Amino acid sequence: MSYRKFSLMPLLLVFCLSGCAVQSAGQEQNKLMEEDQPVAAPAAEDPLVVYQANLVEGYQPILSEMETATRYRIEIEIADSISTVSGQQEVLYTNNEEVALQEIYFRLFPNGSGPYMTVSNLNVDGEPVQVVLDHHNTAMRVELPTELQPGQSVSISMSFDQTVPTEMGGNYGLYVYLDDILSLDQFIPIIPVFNNEGWNVEDPPVNADMLFSDEAFFDVQVSAPPQLVLAGSGVEVNTTVKDGKQVVRYVGGPQRDFFLAASPLFQSASRKVGDTKITSYYLEEYRDGGMLVLETAGHALESYNQRFGLYPYTELDLISTPMNAGGMEYSSAASLSLYYYNPDHNLGNLTFLESVAAHEIAHQWFFNQIMSDQIEEPWLDESLVQYATYLYYVDRYGENNAEGFVDSWYQRWDNVDMASMPIGLPAAAYNEDEYGPIVYGRGPLFFAELEQQIGEDNFNELLRDYTDEYRWGIATGADFKTLAEETCACDLTPLFDQWVYQ
Ligand SMILES: [Zn+2]
Repeated sequence: MSYRKFSLMPLLLVFCLSGCAVQSAGQEQNKLMEEDQPVAAPAAEDPLVVYQANLVEGYQPILSEMETATRYRIEIEIADSISTVSGQQEVLYTNNEEVALQEIYFRLFPNGSGPYMTVSNLNVDGEPVQVVLDHHNTAMRVELPTELQPGQSVSISMSFDQTVPTEMGGNYGLYVYLDDILSLDQFIPIIPVFNNEGWNVEDPPVNADMLFSDEAFFDVQVSAPPQLVLAGSGVEVNTTVKDGKQVVRYVGGPQRDFFLAASPLFQSASRKVGDTKITSYYLEEYRDGGMLVLETAGHALESYNQRFGLYPYTELDLISTPMNAGGMEYSSAASLSLYYYNPDHNLGNLTFLESVAAHEIAHQWFFNQIMSDQIEEPWLDESLVQYATYLYYVDRYGENNAEGFVDSWYQRWDNVDMASMPIGLPAAAYNEDEYGPIVYGRGPLFFAELEQQIGEDNFNELLRDYTDEYRWGIATGADFKTLAEETCACDLTPLFDQWVYQ
């Protein structure tokens, strides 16, 4: 769904992680009066105020418009073995849809590549509910005892346990503990988008990224062995030591997910662009790659800030992790293939590393700020992000030097003999050999063609308007086409038919 503002009754839901009951502001006030406290109860502290630390100043006012976005409050414990992770979470969900809901889904993505995650102690407003798994255990259906009407809220709590694989499995091996690095890719039980198709739950496809979620707030306390260097979405607001473990609290939002990585071997280096602190996490022996990523990120952020609107957060983390892909985007973070950093590895390649870093950072706009259905329309963020990466090269090195990156699109597309397959199909419509060449190779060439047709000024205006109009929401290919046609005051159906849909 698109994020919408709802004028709710003031409702204060109290979070606690041990199955507490929900308390309304009215109940809270009665309690105060019984205890003979001052009659004028103090205004409840805005529960979103803590997220100001995560947002650069210009974006902080958005918090007052996001009171009904989903709030995740999570406690994570990483065991001494590091590959065992347990958690408890309490989710405050408000029905921002136009219809009553009888059930709410959570995605359990770690189960997409094996039986790595279980959920227990599921409660709805403090009452126990049965755990029902669906779609090969990658989705959990939570039946609500009573229908949740539009505007109403519900509190759902659960415990979860995870055994992280120690060798690479499905989904590009992103969820893994390997080479002394723990990478917790999409490990939080997360509520998918509800739209005119209902709940967006399906078996994760082989090709595409899986996440399709609304903007939400994440308050995550991580307890971990003290030797681990942690890197996560959002910002650290508090660090303590308890029972010999480090306890770090992260807050982040509005954002799409929460990512966490950890390693005793991580080194880090930081720099600032405006009010954003960029940190590169890398292994000591691959310092050259770590510094290259930091340098690239600085230039990319400056370029995209100018072109697509200011990056919203006070932090951006770029983390070297083992994977079978080049990189993976997360909210206010990205992971980049450990092997690209390593000159002795057959994949070691700092040129690739630079392009992947610039690509994943562009996803901070086209994925995190504007979400699209990555399974139904993977082109809308991936092909556009490929084009944005080209713009990074143009801004940093000039148009002539950026042509090398354009060549890489043709090389990819040539892997399917430059077949004129539409770029706008669902991920599952491409076989494994077609997906990359079409979406990442032919896809950005469509955006080049679009720029050619509507002119550079219109094209730049379009990308700026697209982020302004859909920031924190969800866009479709049809939305993008409509906006493009408004921008150029022209009919783009023939162009879209030639490239996108056919
Ligand atoms: Zn991408």
